[in-house]
Amino acid sequence: MIFRQLFDPVSSTYTYLLGDSGEALLIDSVYEQVPRDLALLEELGLRLFATLDTHVHADHVTGAWRLRQRCGSDIALAAVVEADGPTRLLRHGERIDFGTRHLTVRATPGHTNGCLTYVLDDQSMAFTGDSLLIRGCGRTDFQQGSPEQLFASVREQILSLPDNCLLYPAHDYRGITVTSVAEERRFNPRLGGDVDIGDFTGYMNNLNLPHPKLMAVAVPANLRCGKPEGGPDPAETPDWAPLTLRFSGVWEIEPMALLEHGAAFQIVDVREAPEFIDRLGHLPGARLVPLSQLMSRIDELDRERPVVAVCRSGVRSAQASVLLSKAGFGKVANLAGGMLRWKIEGLPVASDSV
Ligand code: FE
Repeated sequence: MIFRQLFDPVSSTYTYLLGDSGEALLIDSVYEQVPRDLALLEELGLRLFATLDTHVHADHVTGAWRLRQRCGSDIALAAVVEADGPTRLLRHGERIDFGTRHLTVRATPGHTNGCLTYVLDDQSMAFTGDSLLIRGCGRTDFQQGSPEQLFASVREQILSLPDNCLLYPAHDYRGITVTSVAEERRFNPRLGGDVDIGDFTGYMNNLNLPHPKLMAVAVPANLRCGKPEGGPDPAETPDWAPLTLRFSGVWEIEPMALLEHGAAFQIVDVREAPEFIDRLGHLPGARLVPLSQLMSRIDELDRERPVVAVCRSGVRSAQASVLLSKAGFGKVANLAGGMLRWKIEGLPVASDSV
Protein backbone atom coordinates (compact mmCIF):
# COMPACT_ATOMS: atom_id res chain seq x y z
CA MET A 1 0.00 0.00 0.00
CA ILE A 2 1.15 3.52 -0.76
CA PHE A 3 0.68 6.03 2.05
CA ARG A 4 1.60 9.73 2.02
CA GLN A 5 0.94 12.44 4.56
CA LEU A 6 0.78 15.88 2.91
CA PHE A 7 0.68 19.24 4.66
CA ASP A 8 -0.96 22.57 3.86
CA PRO A 9 1.03 25.22 5.75
CA VAL A 10 -1.68 27.90 5.53
CA SER A 11 -4.35 25.93 7.42
CA SER A 12 -2.02 23.34 9.04
CA THR A 13 -4.17 20.64 7.40
CA TYR A 14 -2.93 17.14 6.75
CA THR A 15 -4.14 15.48 3.57
CA TYR A 16 -3.66 11.72 3.32
CA LEU A 17 -3.09 9.77 0.15
CA LEU A 18 -3.78 6.03 0.28
CA GLY A 19 -3.11 3.94 -2.79
CA ASP A 20 -3.21 0.30 -3.77
CA SER A 21 -3.15 -1.51 -7.14
CA GLY A 22 -3.28 1.80 -9.01
CA GLU A 23 -6.29 3.19 -7.11
CA ALA A 24 -6.08 6.05 -4.66
CA LEU A 25 -8.14 7.85 -2.04
CA LEU A 26 -7.46 11.30 -0.67
CA ILE A 27 -8.65 12.17 2.82
CA ASP A 28 -9.22 15.87 3.62
CA SER A 29 -7.87 17.46 0.46
CA VAL A 30 -7.31 21.23 0.40
CA TYR A 31 -8.59 23.38 -2.46
CA GLU A 32 -5.36 25.31 -3.02
CA GLN A 33 -3.28 22.12 -2.89
CA VAL A 34 -5.10 20.34 -5.72
CA PRO A 35 -2.28 20.94 -8.27
CA ARG A 36 0.19 19.39 -5.81
CA ASP A 37 -2.06 16.38 -5.26
CA LEU A 38 -2.61 15.87 -9.00
CA ALA A 39 1.14 15.99 -9.60
CA LEU A 40 1.76 13.37 -6.93
CA LEU A 41 -0.99 11.06 -8.19
CA GLU A 42 0.45 11.33 -11.68
CA GLU A 43 4.03 10.66 -10.57
CA LEU A 44 2.97 7.65 -8.48
CA GLY A 45 0.81 6.27 -11.31
CA LEU A 46 -2.40 6.34 -9.27
CA ARG A 47 -5.98 6.97 -10.40
CA LEU A 48 -7.94 8.98 -7.87
CA PHE A 49 -10.97 6.92 -6.99
CA ALA A 50 -12.56 9.12 -4.30
CA THR A 51 -11.97 12.09 -2.04
CA LEU A 52 -13.19 11.65 1.52
CA ASP A 53 -13.68 14.46 3.98
CA THR A 54 -13.69 13.68 7.68
CA HIS A 55 -16.18 16.54 8.19
CA VAL A 56 -17.30 19.95 6.95
CA HIS A 57 -14.20 21.97 7.74
CA ALA A 58 -14.36 25.53 9.01
CA ASP A 59 -10.74 26.49 8.38
CA HIS A 60 -10.07 25.54 4.76
CA VAL A 61 -12.01 24.65 1.63
CA THR A 62 -11.98 21.05 0.45
CA GLY A 63 -10.42 20.11 -2.89
CA ALA A 64 -13.14 17.48 -3.49
CA TRP A 65 -15.06 19.25 -6.27
CA ARG A 66 -11.92 20.49 -7.98
CA LEU A 67 -10.41 16.99 -7.98
CA ARG A 68 -13.62 15.50 -9.33
CA GLN A 69 -13.44 17.93 -12.29
CA ARG A 70 -10.01 16.56 -13.13
CA CYS A 71 -10.20 12.90 -12.09
CA GLY A 72 -13.90 12.05 -12.03
CA SER A 73 -13.37 10.97 -8.43
CA ASP A 74 -16.28 10.31 -6.09
CA ILE A 75 -16.97 12.96 -3.46
CA ALA A 76 -17.67 11.15 -0.19
CA LEU A 77 -19.06 12.87 2.89
CA ALA A 78 -21.27 11.95 5.85
CA ALA A 79 -24.90 11.52 4.83
CA VAL A 80 -26.12 13.49 7.88
CA VAL A 81 -24.47 16.67 6.59
CA GLU A 82 -26.92 17.11 3.69
CA ALA A 83 -24.31 18.91 1.63
CA ASP A 84 -24.77 19.84 -2.00
CA GLY A 85 -22.53 17.77 -4.25
CA PRO A 86 -21.41 14.49 -2.67
CA THR A 87 -21.65 11.54 -5.04
CA ARG A 88 -21.32 9.09 -2.19
CA LEU A 89 -23.07 9.46 1.17
CA LEU A 90 -21.30 7.74 4.03
CA ARG A 91 -22.83 6.07 7.07
CA HIS A 92 -21.36 4.28 10.06
CA GLY A 93 -20.05 0.84 9.21
CA GLU A 94 -19.71 1.42 5.48
CA ARG A 95 -16.68 0.19 3.59
CA ILE A 96 -14.68 2.21 1.07
CA ASP A 97 -12.55 0.06 -1.23
CA PHE A 98 -9.36 1.08 -3.02
CA GLY A 99 -7.39 -1.60 -4.88
CA THR A 100 -7.34 -4.66 -2.65
CA ARG A 101 -7.58 -2.59 0.55
CA HIS A 102 -10.42 -0.77 2.25
CA LEU A 103 -11.33 1.74 4.92
CA THR A 104 -14.23 1.34 7.32
CA VAL A 105 -16.33 4.36 8.24
CA ARG A 106 -16.98 5.09 11.89
CA ALA A 107 -19.34 7.90 12.85
CA THR A 108 -17.60 10.06 15.47
CA PRO A 109 -19.86 13.11 15.93
CA GLY A 110 -19.13 15.74 18.53
CA HIS A 111 -16.76 18.23 16.90
CA THR A 112 -19.45 18.53 14.22
CA ASN A 113 -22.52 16.35 13.78
CA GLY A 114 -21.07 14.86 10.57
CA CYS A 115 -17.61 13.83 11.74
CA LEU A 116 -16.31 10.50 10.47
CA THR A 117 -13.21 8.50 11.34
CA TYR A 118 -11.78 6.23 8.66
CA VAL A 119 -10.15 3.01 9.87
CA LEU A 120 -7.82 0.97 7.64
CA ASP A 121 -8.86 -2.67 7.07
CA ASP A 122 -6.23 -4.16 9.41
CA GLN A 123 -6.78 -1.45 12.07
CA SER A 124 -3.15 -0.35 11.80
CA MET A 125 -4.15 3.25 10.98
CA ALA A 126 -7.12 5.51 11.55
CA PHE A 127 -7.83 8.99 10.22
CA THR A 128 -9.59 10.88 12.96
CA GLY A 129 -10.25 14.29 11.44
CA ASP A 130 -10.73 16.75 14.30
CA SER A 131 -12.46 14.24 16.58
CA LEU A 132 -9.12 13.37 18.11
CA LEU A 133 -6.05 15.55 17.62
CA ILE A 134 -2.58 14.75 18.94
CA ARG A 135 -2.96 15.44 22.69
CA GLY A 136 -6.12 17.39 21.94
CA CYS A 137 -9.45 17.35 20.14
CA GLY A 138 -11.57 19.59 17.95
CA ARG A 139 -13.77 22.26 19.52
CA THR A 140 -17.46 21.52 20.13
CA ASP A 141 -19.00 25.00 20.15
CA PHE A 142 -20.38 25.28 16.59
CA GLN A 143 -21.57 23.19 13.61
CA GLN A 144 -23.87 21.16 15.90
CA GLY A 145 -20.93 20.17 18.09
CA SER A 146 -21.50 18.48 21.42
CA PRO A 147 -18.93 17.68 24.11
CA GLU A 148 -21.04 14.78 25.36
CA GLN A 149 -21.16 13.26 21.89
CA LEU A 150 -17.47 13.84 21.28
CA PHE A 151 -16.53 12.16 24.55
CA ALA A 152 -18.55 9.08 23.65
CA SER A 153 -17.26 9.04 20.05
CA VAL A 154 -13.61 9.19 21.02
CA ARG A 155 -13.84 6.70 23.85
CA GLU A 156 -16.06 4.18 22.01
CA GLN A 157 -14.95 4.50 18.40
CA ILE A 158 -11.31 5.65 18.45
CA LEU A 159 -9.61 4.79 21.75
CA SER A 160 -11.23 1.36 21.53
CA LEU A 161 -9.02 0.49 18.55
CA PRO A 162 -5.90 -1.66 19.16
CA ASP A 163 -3.14 -0.03 21.25
CA ASN A 164 -0.70 0.17 18.37
CA CYS A 165 -3.16 1.59 15.84
CA LEU A 166 -1.62 4.80 14.48
CA LEU A 167 -3.87 7.85 14.59
CA TYR A 168 -3.58 10.53 11.92
CA PRO A 169 -5.43 13.80 12.63
CA ALA A 170 -6.69 16.46 10.21
CA HIS A 171 -4.43 19.09 11.75
CA ASP A 172 -1.49 19.66 13.95
CA TYR A 173 -0.35 23.18 14.70
CA ARG A 174 3.04 22.10 16.05
CA GLY A 175 3.98 19.94 13.08
CA ILE A 176 3.64 16.63 14.93
CA THR A 177 2.54 14.04 12.43
CA VAL A 178 1.14 10.96 14.13
CA THR A 179 0.19 9.38 17.45
CA SER A 180 -1.20 6.02 18.60
CA VAL A 181 -4.21 4.76 20.50
CA ALA A 182 -2.08 3.73 23.50
CA GLU A 183 -0.40 7.12 23.59
CA GLU A 184 -3.63 9.14 23.49
CA ARG A 185 -5.40 6.83 25.91
CA ARG A 186 -2.64 7.58 28.38
CA PHE A 187 -1.57 11.13 27.65
CA ASN A 188 -4.43 13.00 25.96
CA PRO A 189 -5.08 15.76 28.50
CA ARG A 190 -8.72 16.18 27.50
CA LEU A 191 -9.85 12.64 26.74
CA GLY A 192 -7.28 10.21 28.12
CA GLY A 193 -6.36 8.91 31.53
CA ASP A 194 -8.95 9.30 34.27
CA VAL A 195 -10.83 12.17 32.61
CA ASP A 196 -14.60 11.58 32.83
CA ILE A 197 -17.45 13.11 30.88
CA GLY A 198 -18.02 15.81 33.50
CA ASP A 199 -14.36 16.89 33.38
CA PHE A 200 -14.46 16.93 29.60
CA THR A 201 -17.68 18.90 29.12
CA GLY A 202 -16.62 21.39 31.81
CA TYR A 203 -13.35 21.93 29.98
CA MET A 204 -14.88 22.17 26.49
CA ASN A 205 -17.69 24.52 27.52
CA ASN A 206 -15.16 27.02 28.83
CA LEU A 207 -12.69 27.18 25.95
CA ASN A 208 -14.02 30.55 24.70
CA LEU A 209 -12.14 30.33 21.42
CA PRO A 210 -12.58 32.94 18.67
CA HIS A 211 -14.21 31.60 15.51
CA PRO A 212 -11.80 30.48 12.78
CA LYS A 213 -10.88 33.28 10.40
CA LEU A 214 -12.14 31.50 7.31
CA MET A 215 -15.30 30.06 8.84
CA ALA A 216 -17.75 32.35 7.01
CA VAL A 217 -16.19 31.37 3.68
CA ALA A 218 -15.11 27.80 4.34
CA VAL A 219 -18.29 26.30 5.79
CA PRO A 220 -20.63 27.41 2.97
CA ALA A 221 -18.00 26.42 0.36
CA ASN A 222 -17.58 23.02 1.98
CA LEU A 223 -21.34 22.51 2.01
CA ARG A 224 -20.95 22.73 -1.79
CA CYS A 225 -18.03 20.26 -1.59
CA GLY A 226 -15.63 23.02 -2.60
CA LYS A 227 -17.42 24.11 -5.76
CA PRO A 228 -16.71 27.82 -6.33
CA GLU A 229 -19.83 29.96 -6.11
CA GLY A 230 -20.93 31.28 -9.49
CA GLY A 231 -17.55 31.97 -11.00
CA PRO A 232 -15.66 29.55 -13.20
CA ASP A 233 -13.06 27.20 -11.89
CA PRO A 234 -9.78 29.08 -11.48
CA ALA A 235 -7.20 28.07 -14.05
CA GLU A 236 -5.66 24.79 -12.96
CA THR A 237 -2.64 25.36 -15.12
CA PRO A 238 -1.09 28.46 -16.66
CA ASP A 239 -2.66 29.20 -20.04
CA TRP A 240 0.41 30.56 -21.83
CA ALA A 241 1.73 27.10 -22.75
CA PRO A 242 0.93 23.42 -22.14
CA LEU A 243 2.70 22.88 -18.83
CA THR A 244 2.91 20.07 -16.30
CA LEU A 245 3.36 20.71 -12.61
CA ARG A 246 5.91 18.43 -11.00
CA PHE A 247 5.41 17.38 -7.39
CA SER A 248 8.58 19.37 -6.66
CA GLY A 249 6.52 22.49 -7.40
CA VAL A 250 8.16 23.39 -10.72
CA TRP A 251 6.15 23.82 -13.92
CA GLU A 252 7.68 21.96 -16.86
CA ILE A 253 7.32 22.25 -20.60
CA GLU A 254 7.99 19.29 -22.88
CA PRO A 255 10.53 19.81 -25.70
CA MET A 256 7.94 19.41 -28.51
CA ALA A 257 5.59 21.88 -26.81
CA LEU A 258 8.40 24.41 -26.53
CA LEU A 259 9.20 23.98 -30.21
CA GLU A 260 5.54 24.63 -31.10
CA HIS A 261 4.77 27.48 -28.71
CA GLY A 262 8.14 28.98 -27.90
CA ALA A 263 8.58 31.66 -30.57
CA ALA A 264 7.50 34.44 -28.21
CA PHE A 265 9.24 33.09 -25.11
CA GLN A 266 12.54 34.12 -23.59
CA ILE A 267 14.74 31.05 -23.54
CA VAL A 268 17.27 31.39 -20.73
CA ASP A 269 20.11 28.90 -20.77
CA VAL A 270 21.59 28.74 -17.28
CA ARG A 271 24.63 26.56 -18.01
CA GLU A 272 28.20 27.87 -17.90
CA ALA A 273 29.59 29.56 -21.04
CA PRO A 274 31.70 26.60 -22.32
CA GLU A 275 28.68 24.29 -22.14
CA PHE A 276 26.66 26.67 -24.30
CA ILE A 277 28.81 25.81 -27.31
CA ASP A 278 29.77 22.23 -26.50
CA ARG A 279 28.54 19.16 -28.41
CA LEU A 280 24.97 19.55 -27.12
CA GLY A 281 24.78 23.08 -28.50
CA HIS A 282 21.91 25.30 -27.39
CA LEU A 283 18.39 26.26 -28.37
CA PRO A 284 18.17 28.73 -31.27
CA GLY A 285 17.58 32.17 -29.79
CA ALA A 286 18.62 31.15 -26.28
CA ARG A 287 20.21 33.75 -24.04
CA LEU A 288 23.08 32.58 -21.84
CA VAL A 289 22.76 33.60 -18.19
CA PRO A 290 24.64 31.11 -15.98
CA LEU A 291 22.71 30.12 -12.85
CA SER A 292 25.42 31.70 -10.67
CA GLN A 293 24.74 35.09 -12.31
CA LEU A 294 20.98 34.82 -12.67
CA MET A 295 20.00 36.99 -9.74
CA SER A 296 22.55 39.73 -10.43
CA ARG A 297 21.52 39.92 -14.10
CA ILE A 298 17.80 39.46 -13.58
CA ASP A 299 16.97 42.93 -14.94
CA GLU A 300 18.17 41.81 -18.38
CA LEU A 301 14.99 39.69 -18.59
CA ASP A 302 11.52 40.92 -19.49
CA ARG A 303 9.15 40.20 -16.60
CA GLU A 304 6.09 40.34 -18.83
CA ARG A 305 7.18 37.69 -21.33
CA PRO A 306 7.15 33.99 -20.49
CA VAL A 307 10.54 32.56 -19.57
CA VAL A 308 11.67 29.00 -20.21
CA ALA A 309 14.82 27.97 -18.36
CA VAL A 310 17.15 25.42 -19.93
CA CYS A 311 20.26 23.56 -18.78
CA ARG A 312 21.95 20.24 -19.54
CA SER A 313 19.57 17.87 -17.73
CA GLY A 314 16.86 20.14 -16.31
CA VAL A 315 18.17 20.27 -12.76
CA ARG A 316 19.90 23.66 -12.67
CA SER A 317 17.12 25.16 -14.77
CA ALA A 318 14.53 23.88 -12.26
CA GLN A 319 16.43 25.85 -9.63
CA ALA A 320 16.46 28.86 -11.98
CA SER A 321 12.67 28.54 -12.43
CA VAL A 322 12.18 28.65 -8.67
CA LEU A 323 14.44 31.73 -8.37
CA LEU A 324 12.64 33.53 -11.20
CA SER A 325 9.21 32.81 -9.69
CA LYS A 326 10.39 34.07 -6.31
CA ALA A 327 11.71 37.20 -8.02
CA GLY A 328 8.19 37.94 -9.26
CA PHE A 329 8.22 36.47 -12.76
CA GLY A 330 4.69 35.19 -13.32
CA LYS A 331 5.22 32.98 -16.39
CA VAL A 332 8.12 30.61 -15.83
CA ALA A 333 8.69 27.03 -16.89
CA ASN A 334 11.53 24.56 -16.93
CA LEU A 335 12.44 22.64 -20.09
CA ALA A 336 11.82 19.00 -19.14
CA GLY A 337 15.00 16.94 -19.47
CA GLY A 338 17.10 19.91 -20.59
CA MET A 339 19.39 19.83 -23.65
CA LEU A 340 19.88 16.07 -23.24
CA ARG A 341 16.23 15.34 -24.06
CA TRP A 342 16.05 18.11 -26.63
CA LYS A 343 18.95 16.46 -28.48
CA ILE A 344 17.54 12.91 -28.13
CA GLU A 345 14.29 14.11 -29.67
CA GLY A 346 16.30 15.44 -32.61
CA LEU A 347 15.11 19.04 -32.28
CA PRO A 348 17.04 21.94 -33.83
CA VAL A 349 20.14 23.24 -32.04
CA ALA A 350 22.51 26.11 -32.63
CA SER A 351 26.20 26.11 -31.85
CA ASP A 352 27.12 29.76 -32.35
CA SER A 353 28.76 31.45 -29.37
CA VAL A 354 27.04 34.19 -27.37
FE1 FE B 1 -12.72 20.90 12.00
